[in-house]
Amino acid sequence: MVEIQELTDTSVFGQIAEHQHEQVVFCHDHETGLKAIIGIHNTVLGPALGGTRMWEYASDADALNDVLRLSRGMTYKAAISGLNLGGGKAVIIGDAKTQKTEALLRKFGRFVKNLNGKYITAEDVGMTTKDMQYIRMETKHVAGLPESMGGSGDPSPVTAFGTYMGMKAAAKKAFGSDSLAGKRIAVQGVGHVGGYLLEHLIKEGAKIVLTDYYEDRKLEMAAKYNAVAVGLDEIYDQEVDIYSPCALGATINNDTIDRLKCRVIAGCANNQLQDENVHGPALVERGIIYAPDFLINAGGLINVYSEVIGGSRKSALSQTEKIYDFTTEVLNKAEQEGTHPQKAAIRQAEQRIAALGKVKSTY
Ligand code: NAD
Repeated sequence: MVEIQELTDTSVFGQIAEHQHEQVVFCHDHETGLKAIIGIHNTVLGPALGGTRMWEYASDADALNDVLRLSRGMTYKAAISGLNLGGGKAVIIGDAKTQKTEALLRKFGRFVKNLNGKYITAEDVGMTTKDMQYIRMETKHVAGLPESMGGSGDPSPVTAFGTYMGMKAAAKKAFGSDSLAGKRIAVQGVGHVGGYLLEHLIKEGAKIVLTDYYEDRKLEMAAKYNAVAVGLDEIYDQEVDIYSPCALGATINNDTIDRLKCRVIAGCANNQLQDENVHGPALVERGIIYAPDFLINAGGLINVYSEVIGGSRKSALSQTEKIYDFTTEVLNKAEQEGTHPQKAAIRQAEQRIAALGKVKSTY
């Protein structure tokens, strides 16, 4: 298994080797100002699928680090969910508000086209449906478009459903019952996914404490679901049964871990553990059950995959429901193997890739 947190060689090829990527494409176009990186981590199971993010990175090195980490996560997410997809991701370097043009996006689309389907892109941070339409003008290798364009539409409700399933499985492990009735749950970030997740939790009778970066959204959701709204930093100090990170990554870190009073962590945010090799074991030591992020937030990818193979939202939801069983399996395995759930999940994903790689070795 590749442990990536402590990079021993920070050169470009050193990083690529350490993360074990198959291919990294640096895209540059003088005319449009395009600077992008496409990371193709692993295509043993199928084409590398993952969104394109546009972000004003502090440095090119940060952009490379982001695309390498994100595309690796996509490999594991697809593999553990039983999908025939590899892991990929792309970043466009620049300010999404001021530097995005039709020409730049279409040029980027050409780079995606040149990969002949080895990489399939989708929407991510800093990109809109309109932007994806521009990319689609140059390449058919775009997924997750709106239903009106023949796509699978907003993945957030499916992601929320999967997160809910994973949370219930983790609750069963921690409390002996998967019922969330009366459980106190702290939801950090009530945007697209967090908002849909709240519906499931409230329907089951959970008691919610929530926060959001946007004050108006926070108050709106608190009023709608009769929840307690707290400040951004206060969320870590709540006396709750479950902490659900649904905003940004790395919220489980050296500053927050000792403040958490929950028995379960289950949320939709990507890369929740700042350092999986440090904070994964640290949660086990504290008796906190962690539902691996890339496993329980896979509903959105499952939804996009159903678009790629011609399935329906109904089939995506039924596949997403299995996240409950997958989470139970991973949590039990982690316990048996004396490791932490994130590591057990990565191991399981890698085992599927290794096994199916052998199947494919015959022409
Ligand atoms: P979103 O932008 O709709 O919602 C995120 C919310 O978090 C926003 O309301 C934002 O104001 C809030 N937020 C930002 N910083 C915060 C902070 N420090 N404290 C509290 N709130 C904060 O995004 P989303 O689509 O709901 O995705 C949420 C997370 O789930 C992201 O990490 C995303 O990468 C991940 N994810 C989303 C999907 C999906 O289908 N949308 C799939 C897989 C993973």
